[in-house]
Amino acid sequence: MTALRCEDVAVHFGGVKAVDGVEFTVRAGSLCGLVGPNGSGKTTLLNAISGLVPLTRGRITAGGEAVSGRAVPHIARSGIRRTYQAIRLVPGLTVLQNVMLGADDGRRLLDGLVRPRRAARADRESRDRAREALARVGLTGLEKSLPGALPYGHQRRVEIARALAARPRLLLLDEPVAGMSPVERTEIGDLLTSLRDDGMTQLLVEHDLEMVTRLTDHLVVVDFGRVIADGDPATTVRDDRVREAYLGR
Ligand code: ADP
Repeated sequence: MTALRCEDVAVHFGGVKAVDGVEFTVRAGSLCGLVGPNGSGKTTLLNAISGLVPLTRGRITAGGEAVSGRAVPHIARSGIRRTYQAIRLVPGLTVLQNVMLGADDGRRLLDGLVRPRRAARADRESRDRAREALARVGLTGLEKSLPGALPYGHQRRVEIARALAARPRLLLLDEPVAGMSPVERTEIGDLLTSLRDDGMTQLLVEHDLEMVTRLTDHLVVVDFGRVIADGDPATTVRDDRVREAYLGR
C-alpha cells in the first residue's frame, strides 16, 4: 500500500527551481530515505508535503487523499507530522508540555473556550499520549525538565516525541541526527528502526549516505530539484549519477 505519492511536484521560488518535477512513492510501513547534496531541494520537498510551501505544479497524495492544496492544520490532522532541521521547542514549557503540543492539534485551546469539561478530558488524553511518546523515545523521567537543560541529543528526541504524540501515519524527519555525537546518532538510528518495526511510515532526510543506506528500506536521491535515483539503498548509492552528485563537486 502507498503511504505517500509525489507526482510531478515542482516548487519554484521566482527563478529558483528548488524542486522541479519530482516523482516518487513511499510504501506504507517503510523507512524511506530522501538524500541529496546541499541545496538539492530536500527541505523544500518536506515543506511542500507538510503544506508550508505551495506547489508550482504537480500533486501530492497521502493514503490516497490529496495533500497538495490543503492548509497546514488540515495536513497535520490527516496524520502527517514532521520534525525540523533546527530544533523548535518552546523554552518556557516543560518537556511534557512541549510534547503535549504535538498531541492535541489545538483542540484543547478551542474546547477550553467553549466547553471546559471536554477540554479537561482532551487535556488528560494529550498528557497520556505525550507520556507514551516520551517513553517511546526513552525520555521517561524527564517530563518536568525544561528543554534547555537537556543535552542536544535529548532535545532532538523531545522533538521526535512531539511528532509521535499525534500518532502520525507518516512521519517526516528533517536531518534528525544533525550535530549529534556518533553515540547519539546510533541511538536515533535504533529509534527510527524500531518505529519502522512497529509499522510507522517514515521519510527521512539525511545528509549522511552511509547512515541512510544502513537504516532505510528504500532510497530516493535528488539533485538540482530532480530525482536522479530511486530504489534499493545499497544499489542506489552505487549509481553513477549519485556518486557524481556527491563526489563531483
Ligand atoms: P536541501 O534541503 O536539499 O539542502 P533546500 O530545499 O533547502 O535544499 O533548497 C533548495 C534550493 O532552493 C536552494 O537553492 C535554496 O537556496 C533554494 N530555496 C529554498 N528555500 C527558498 C526560498 N524560500 N526562497 C528562495 N530560494 C529558496
